[in-house]
Amino acid sequence: MMNDLEIARQAKLLPITEVAKKAGIPKEYLKLFGDNVAKVSHKYLEALKEEPDGKLVLVTAITPTSAGEGKTTTSIGLAMALNKIGKRTFVTLREPSLGPVMGIKGGAAGGGYAQVLPMEEINLHFTGDIHAITTAHNLLSASIDAHIKFGNKLELDPTRIYWPRAMDMNDRALRNIVIGLGGRSNGHPREDGFIITAASEVMAILCLAKDIEDLKNRLGNIIISLSKGGDFVRVKDLNIQGAMAAVLKDAINPNLVQTIEGTPAFVHGGPFANIAHGTNSIIATKMALKLSDFVVTEAGFGADLGGEKFLDFVSQVGNFKPSAVVLVASIRALKLNGGANKKSLEIEDTDALRKGFENLKVHYENMRKFRLPVVVAINDFPDDTVAEKKLLADLCDKNDIPFEISTVWKDGGNGGIALAKRVVELSNTGSEYQPLIPLDAPIEEKLSTITKEVYRAGSYSFEPKAKSMLRILKKQGFGNYPVIVAKTQYSISDDAKKLGVPKGYNFQIRDLALSAGAGFVVAVSGDIMLMPGLPMESNAQRIDIDGNGEIIGLF
Ligand code: ADP
Ligand code: MG
Repeated sequence: MMNDLEIARQAKLLPITEVAKKAGIPKEYLKLFGDNVAKVSHKYLEALKEEPDGKLVLVTAITPTSAGEGKTTTSIGLAMALNKIGKRTFVTLREPSLGPVMGIKGGAAGGGYAQVLPMEEINLHFTGDIHAITTAHNLLSASIDAHIKFGNKLELDPTRIYWPRAMDMNDRALRNIVIGLGGRSNGHPREDGFIITAASEVMAILCLAKDIEDLKNRLGNIIISLSKGGDFVRVKDLNIQGAMAAVLKDAINPNLVQTIEGTPAFVHGGPFANIAHGTNSIIATKMALKLSDFVVTEAGFGADLGGEKFLDFVSQVGNFKPSAVVLVASIRALKLNGGANKKSLEIEDTDALRKGFENLKVHYENMRKFRLPVVVAINDFPDDTVAEKKLLADLCDKNDIPFEISTVWKDGGNGGIALAKRVVELSNTGSEYQPLIPLDAPIEEKLSTITKEVYRAGSYSFEPKAKSMLRILKKQGFGNYPVIVAKTQYSISDDAKKLGVPKGYNFQIRDLALSAGAGFVVAVSGDIMLMPGLPMESNAQRIDIDGNGEIIGLF
């Protein structure tokens, strides 16, 4: 089979104006970025407000390998298949971060015959949203240090500045740094660090904001420091929320592209699911719901991360009522979870598969706790053997877990018809989605529920830093704030080495970080990094551009 780029290049793209027209988006709301990409004004949502919503389908997955198990590919393929069976469908996805593009995982535009296009644009800079977010983020960083240098009227405590700097690259050398060296004219030296833009609170805010007013409000509420008097200091105290929002004026508008089969797609916003909330913008999904019968949306990493966050947090904030969950499973990830060596996952290993199946069961049970119908999409990989596929189907049957085999990677929409039909059927069962965690429960209660019910821990505990932050949060009135957990994606637990189904362990929370603009507290577990690093061998060593400007090596 051709590689992703070759397939992408052979595809005949529709002019984006035509995609918009077919989706029902009037021309006056479009801002074109060449022939195949357009931004759709957020204002269009207001014009659509009386339209009924389509059905929302969440695509999530079992605990993945570092290569990913095909959520994006399945989301795109499923949306194409739903179109084929006569349902007007949108797919809504996140924008790729350059971190994974240059690191190990690669791009995030799907793969094979289930891609969103143009994949080179989407994977490299796209419409500049991530740059705008980085700039808005660092405008605040620069303003903080200027404020400290020019008299520090707000009495910011330089040892308790919560706002790091951000960039969209895996640069471990910038995790902990000292800034302001070089004498008086360069400001006050203090410790600082960088996080990756996908983890920035500005990214989260952009993805949660309803409109410009809400965006500005949320930006103004970002907490940057504890003052020497012990009070939180916010962006609005520096009065730069307006400038930050101005920098984001285009970034707030969803990016419209198309799948390889011409299905409309919004690719907008890109928070990671291990260190942030992990789904594309609420504006994009809301708009898509108004324009279609079905919207397929992807939540990052496993169902313990993006899935839980989408159902417990994003859906409550966005007022979404999901109708069904698609749980993507690959035989290679099941084998890894069953103890197979990660370097030889292509070798048949039914024992490891049988053991690893327990991981699928846990994610399935977890998603069912939200009272939603769940179907497992077995993402068919070229190395899967007949014996393995048969065993997996038998295990699903034996455990009463509905499943369909999806071959969208090699067959496009045609490979997802069975899955699409099953999704339509399940989404008509009338089951009522219910979050596991009420938005206003005390932080400890939320953590107790999520660590027990989803991460399957026996107990959880706070390290001293988290404990002292909890005291501060309670004192400042944030004791019942929404919680999102930052943890490893390689295990349902807080330890990347615990594969399969760890049980009865103690889940440790190292720190709590308040994102008062986004509207959540991040509970950070283990040694999860807000700034990843490049691997020994990176994709960057394979990516190239030829004399005609054609990109090579992206996938
Ligand atoms: P996720 O969204 O779960 O991280 P992706 O859909 O991005 O996963 O897929 C991860 C990688 O695996 C991509 O490079 C994609 O092209 C590839 N891939 C996905 N499904 C298949 C498949 N069935 N066969 C071969 N490669 C696949
Ligand atoms: Mg993905």
